[in-house]
Amino acid sequence: MSSKPIVAVLSTKDAPVHEDALKLLREHFIVREVTTKGWTVDEDVVRGATGAEAILVRIGRVDKAVMDVCPNLKIISVHGVGFDRVDVDEATRRGVLVTYTPGANAQSVAELTIGLMITALRKLHLVTEKMRTGGWDEARVYGTGSEVYGKVVGLIGIGNIGGRVARIVRAMEAAEVLAYDPYVSESRARELGVRLVDLDTLLRQSDIISIHAPLTKETYHLINEERLKIMKPSAIIVNTARGGLIDTEALYKALRDGWIAGAALDVTDPEPLPKEHPLYKLPNVVITPHIGGSTYECWRRVSLMAAEEVVRRFKGLPPLNPVNPQVLK
Ligand code: NAD
Repeated sequence: MSSKPIVAVLSTKDAPVHEDALKLLREHFIVREVTTKGWTVDEDVVRGATGAEAILVRIGRVDKAVMDVCPNLKIISVHGVGFDRVDVDEATRRGVLVTYTPGANAQSVAELTIGLMITALRKLHLVTEKMRTGGWDEARVYGTGSEVYGKVVGLIGIGNIGGRVARIVRAMEAAEVLAYDPYVSESRARELGVRLVDLDTLLRQSDIISIHAPLTKETYHLINEERLKIMKPSAIIVNTARGGLIDTEALYKALRDGWIAGAALDVTDPEPLPKEHPLYKLPNVVITPHIGGSTYECWRRVSLMAAEEVVRRFKGLPPLNPVNPQVLK
């Protein structure tokens, strides 16, 4: 790299790119930090991006208008997995590489999954609430819960996150880990020490069910009334994937009427769930505001991975996670 090209970094004050990644970029580029107002393109974004040969986008949108002012653009590196913030078709038409950072948040989401699992099993949300109001004795009553040890855990999806959850619950000596994932090989299942089964078998046999599949047409409302009814009445379900995988109204009925014992949700449908939603009132549900990937470590890892893609592009190295690899042919 002879003269330094410009990289425009699109983010907000609340959701910046990690300083270590900016440092890495500054070694090779002129870094132009562009503060956006969210997921829209406005004059500031267009002005900030003008002349950039690389764009790293955490919060912002990169569309035709942005690409028009960057005639020498070589890469759009997405900070995260949601590359819908980029007009990928337009980028591909122009031969601009788009990359993203899959898997970088897997450990954080897996750890939150285990935290939510234990919260639901030990009713920690109720216990801590009682403790805050000074109700030691009342809090201890809630304190009788269940272990993961010796239970059958069923995982829907065993990719990056589900795979990590599988390893953790095996280390906790779950009796067995079942998995439903139509797109993985037997060898992947063997490597994780899980048994591949069909969805109904998983739902009927599991004490703890955890969802780690993407939201697609095929998985929308995968957990519906009918499927909630075949689960054990003592079972709990954890969802850190996407809210749309569960039919919220059916879940509410299942929790209210005791078809299942509990639920822990980092994601909901709709999201956020309206303040007055009856799900909040049920004692056997724990809800967090989509914070699966919200750790310092994850933030730094994603930022560095996104920055590294930019550096690799200019060094002529193959991308780690291309969205449109066809532009390289
Ligand atoms: P991944 O792509 O590595 O794994 C997804 C797995 O789901 C794959 O093994 C795939 O074969 C499987 N799958 C696809 N369709 C399926 C189906 N119909 N039934 C069962 N399994 C199916 O993705 P990942 O990194 O493990 O992430 C999983 C999901 O977690 C993402 O799609 C995302 O929606 C969600 N997520 C949530 C947060 C959060 O903050 N809570 C953060 C990151 C990701």
